[in-house]
Amino acid sequence: MKLTEYDISHPYAATVVSTERLTASGTDEIRHLVLGIPSATFNYLEGQSIGVLVPGPHPFGNENHFRLYSIANARNGEDGNMSEISICVRRCFYTDEVSGERYPGIASNYLCDAAVGQSIRITGPYGRQFMAPRDPSCNLLMMGVGTGIAPFRAFLKHIYEEHKAWKGQVRLFYGARTGLDLVYMNDQNKDIALYYDRETFKAFEALSPRPHADAPVDMASAIKSNAAEVWALLQDPKTYTYVSGLSKLEEQLDAVLAEIAGSPAAWKTLKNKLITEKRWSTLFYE
Ligand code: FAD
Repeated sequence: MKLTEYDISHPYAATVVSTERLTASGTDEIRHLVLGIPSATFNYLEGQSIGVLVPGPHPFGNENHFRLYSIANARNGEDGNMSEISICVRRCFYTDEVSGERYPGIASNYLCDAAVGQSIRITGPYGRQFMAPRDPSCNLLMMGVGTGIAPFRAFLKHIYEEHKAWKGQVRLFYGARTGLDLVYMNDQNKDIALYYDRETFKAFEALSPRPHADAPVDMASAIKSNAAEVWALLQDPKTYTYVSGLSKLEEQLDAVLAEIAGSPAAWKTLKNKLITEKRWSTLFYE
């Protein structure tokens, strides 16, 4: 769906409650923002996104600059009483191909610079294609990179804090450039470590082999080291698979899963089956 097709006609005024850098200085800046929301009117589920409207004037005459951010908490709110929502934002920059100049991304810099108490207009929630199963005997296989961890944090909070008796197996493969960039799993914030003692949960890290040369995260090795379990989960009709983050992750996953499946054709057949059965969901962005 194109950004211009989203309904932004009913914005809500949210207030920045806190803003915390999740990555050490010297690496990419990713922040955890908690926004106060008018509780009763803003209901959402794990896996959905909010829209952020950055007021103009903007370069191409747009009144608002509109971008999407995944909700990083479960449906009962970041604070547990539905009046706070959290998002995880990477400060983006892009280089103009013609001038070679480096420009800050509008919405991500607006959010990363936002001060406590600042009012932010949000819209949504959007997206119902990335939802955790309701049945607690289902397995979740989650694979993501960078800020793609946000909906998985929401799933884990829902499964282990709201649901409590989750019986299915839950696996998280999470990739980032370096260990310092593994948000919610690094020294700055260990949210996901809260679930390491759950019998049904295991998390695996995938890092870039050459972070300074911008080599992609090595998700393939992490998955290959656990090939038998991943393959068994993918065959299980109770497994729901989620892939989130940068869109180039899909190509990497297709390659490694084809290897595990024995051939690209065998993987394509299984992937199509998973898609048809709504057990393969993706949430991608550039
Ligand atoms: P923009 O100002 O829009 O620039 C961003 C990109 O646009 C640049 O990298 C560049 O490639 C291109 N670009 C724009 N203008 C030019 C130009 N003049 N010349 C060349 N290139 C240009 N991000 C997160 O950090 N966390 C999330 O949880 C998250 N969830 C998302 C969920 C969904 C469903 C989607 C679709 C996206 C999500 N994103 C998330 C990405 C986010 O919506 C924004 O795309 C991102 O923050 C960049 O927006 P921006 O306004 O800062 O940058």
